[in-house]
This record gives sequence, structure tokens and C-alpha cells, in this order.
Amino acid sequence: MDKYDLIVIGAGPGGYVAAIRGAQKGLNVAVIEADRVGGTCLNRGCIPTKAMIHASSLYREMQEGDRFGLHAEGVSYDYGKICDYKQETVDTLVGGVQQLLKGNKVTVIEGRGILQQPENGVNAVRVGDDVYYADNIILAAGSKPASLPVEGAELPKVINSDGLFALDHAPENLVIIGGGVIGVEFATVFSNLGSKITILEALPKILDNFDKEISQNLKMILKKRGVDIHTSAMVSRFAEREDGSVTAFYEEKGKEQSASGDYILVAAGRRPVTEGLFADDVQPEMNGRYVKVDDNFRTSIPGVYAIGDLIGGIQLAHAASAHGIRAVENICGSSDSQNVIIVPAGVYTDPEIATVGMTESQAKEQGIEVVTGKFIMSANGKSLITKEERGFIKVVAEAGTEKILGAQMMCARATDMIGEFTTAIVNDLTVSDMLRSIMSHPTYSEGIGEALEDVHGMSLHTAPRPSRR
Ligand code: NAD
Repeated sequence: MDKYDLIVIGAGPGGYVAAIRGAQKGLNVAVIEADRVGGTCLNRGCIPTKAMIHASSLYREMQEGDRFGLHAEGVSYDYGKICDYKQETVDTLVGGVQQLLKGNKVTVIEGRGILQQPENGVNAVRVGDDVYYADNIILAAGSKPASLPVEGAELPKVINSDGLFALDHAPENLVIIGGGVIGVEFATVFSNLGSKITILEALPKILDNFDKEISQNLKMILKKRGVDIHTSAMVSRFAEREDGSVTAFYEEKGKEQSASGDYILVAAGRRPVTEGLFADDVQPEMNGRYVKVDDNFRTSIPGVYAIGDLIGGIQLAHAASAHGIRAVENICGSSDSQNVIIVPAGVYTDPEIATVGMTESQAKEQGIEVVTGKFIMSANGKSLITKEERGFIKVVAEAGTEKILGAQMMCARATDMIGEFTTAIVNDLTVSDMLRSIMSHPTYSEGIGEALEDVHGMSLHTAPRPSRR
């Protein structure tokens, strides 16, 4: 009988991290994966998108070199080579994960794992004709793009992010359904490459669950780059045209409107991969379409855990990894020190967007009185040197204690700098605690210090507020 201490189903950033941590803790671990290790994040998500964003942003910057006294003529791109660079990056990282699993003596089983009824109190997973046993199982099967339940959704040119990565050319005209994270990141890539982009978003704002100012600023910046954005625009059907292009029909201000492109990208959320994960006689308690778990990621089935996109809530790679570590710690009887509630989020637009904790309005909705600070990055030396778009850093703290509750950033390197606020929130730091550190000069992170100083009306590089004169 093939028996392990831990079997992980799915080798994405939740599953492979759990498997490695389990092995580091001395467990005999197997991970079951139907595709390449690395999951959506490495193969079809975070990594390839960020590579495309990097290459396409460089292309746009090269064309804007005049701002720095640089002349480049005949700047062009080879889409095939951009894809090669993206794929090499992905392959290197996937290879790295394979090596890490091997080095940690994690058995990788190829195939699709199906959770079975326990046998003699031991949990079991079927892969094809084989059954593997383990005391503990972590379900980390992830998510897949949601399709829209509308007419024409099955047309070949109505594609999701997987389909877009499979194209061998950049679409000339791309209609994107959904102004969420995936929608605005792909709009960034292809508008940088010169494609004509239309975004159709059902809600009143793009990046609707982000700080209002972030959504407004991003809309303005994308529009400036030629992206056509329609909000409060609910898409209700797709149709193919005689010239081979495709049209999305949507309702805007009570009227049916349409937008056509070579392709339509549906970026309308992701669904957990629970189909086929459980044998017919096995059913953990669910929370809608997600697997229900407790604070330690235990499902209703003893010894079976679920993590990442399967459980709903925040669908981010680093959240899934943190869940995996917490589950393994629970299996090993040790307590995990990582805070899995305060999860930073980054959007790789240009400029970048990053948030952690509460926005001012979220705090107010919860009846928490707050004080805030804000710094406009056009007064930051490094931002001026690199000629960044107008950006900002906002900090939200509890009134009285001045404990940091949240931060929202829209500026260069925001996705790197947000870590400073994450550390502050999980360690209950206050504005004054954070202000004890000197920021080096010239850096973008000086903006963090200025936003914190602004809580006390003392930002050095902000014009004095009239009320304080
Ligand atoms: P999302 O939920 O962020 O956005 C989907 C958008 O589609 C919503 O704003 C929704 O209102 C809109 N929509 C849905 N149906 C529509 C319709 N019929 N017509 C018009 N608009 C419609 O989902 P996503 O952008 O697909 O991303 C999926 C998940 O992946 C998210 O949880 C996201 O956080 C995660 N992700 C994260 C990153 C990152 O961290 N940088 C990158 C990509 C994806």
C-alpha cells in the first residue's frame, strides 16, 4: 500500500509550497498534479502576465525615450520573441519548482487526484487506476477562468486568459469583458503593444473593490493611452461577424450598444476546480461553490484540508501559499506565525497598484474612526527623475491609537513597497513606530514616510494645509 503522511492534490503555489514545507518538517509527502507543476500562477497566470507586462512596458518606454534625451528609431517588436522570453521565464521557474520538490524528496504523481472515502480510517486518493493513502490530504486544486452564461460564449474567438496566451500574434482589436485585475493587466500589455482595447465592465468602476481614487486614476491613465472604457456596461451576448471579427453586445444607459474586435477576452472572474475532485460518495461541506474550511483550513472531513482558490475569498498566489503553510503547521501540531488575514494585493498596471488592510471607507463602514495621510508622488524626487505618472500613497490609521489599519498605493514599485505596511499592520505598529525608520534618498519609499508624516500634517514636501497656517 502506497501510504504517505501527506498527499497534496495540486502543485500550484498553494500545493507545492505545502508539499515542500511538509517535507521540511519531516513528513513523507506526495503531490498529485495533472499538468506541469507551478499551477496557474507559474504557467498561465502571474508569471507569464508579468513577463508580458515587462516586455510591453519596455517597448512603450523605448518609444518615449525623447523625454530623457534618447532617440531610438524604428523601434518595433517581434511578438513571437516576446512569447519565447515569457515561456523561458515560465520554464525556468517551473524547472526550479521541480528541482525543489525532488530535492525535498516529495513524490510527484502525474494525473488527476480524486478524493475517496477513507479506508480503515486512512484517507485515500484515486489517480487513474491507482489508490494512494495518507493520514492527511490537502486539496489545492485551484481555479479556472469563469465563462459567461450568455449567447455566443462558445464562439472560437471569445477566449479567456489561457486562450489569449495561446495566440501567436497580438490582436489588433481586443474587447475585454471585465475591468477587474485580469482585465486591466491585459489592457496594459496590449495597449502598450499598440492594440486597440475596449473594456466593458458591468459595475460602475473598473477595479471596483479598490479605493475609489485608484479606480478613477487608472481609468484616466488607460484612457490617455487610448483604451476605450465603458463602465455600468453589462455584456449580454456575443456574435460572429462576416469578416471573422466578434461583437459583444452590452447594455449601457438603458440602450443596447456593441463593441467589436478580432477577439473578445472574457476576464469575468475565476471558478474553483471542484468538479471531479470528489468521488460520488464523498462530499465535504461547501460554502456555495467553494469548499468550507475552518481557521486552520480543515474541511468537514477529518484529516482533509483545502486551501487557495478552492475556498473562496482572496484568490491570490501568496494567499494560497500562506494557507498551505498554515495547514501543514496544523498537521504537524505546531502553530503558524503567519497572519493569513492581512493579505497584500498588487495589480501590475503602469503605474502599479498595491493595497493592504482597510481603505478609509471600509473602516468607516465598520464604524472605526480613522486618521489618514496622503502623499502625492509628483513631489517625490525619484518619481520626477523617472517621470512617473502622477501617483499617490495613502495610509489609514485608527484614530487615537494611530495603529496602522491599511494603505493604498498607486505609484512605481507599489507592489514591492506595500510589504512595509503589511509588516506594520500584522505587528500592530503605529504611525510613530513606522516613522522611527529613516527612508533612504532618493527612493520611491520616501513617499511612505511622507504619507505617514501627513497623518500629523507634517509632510515635508507637501504644501502646508491652509487650516494649519
Ligand atoms: P475580478 O472578479 O477581479 O473581475 C471580473 C470583473 O468582470 C468584475 O469587475 C465584474 O463586474 C466583471 N463582469 C462580470 N460579468 C460581466 C459582464 N457580463 N459584463 C461586463 N462585466 C462583467 O476577476 P478577474 O479579473 O477575472 O480575476 C480573477 C481573480 O484572479 C481575481 O480574484 C484576481 O484577484 C486574481 N488575479 C490577481 C492578479 C494579481 O494579483 N495581480 C492578477 C490576475 C488575477
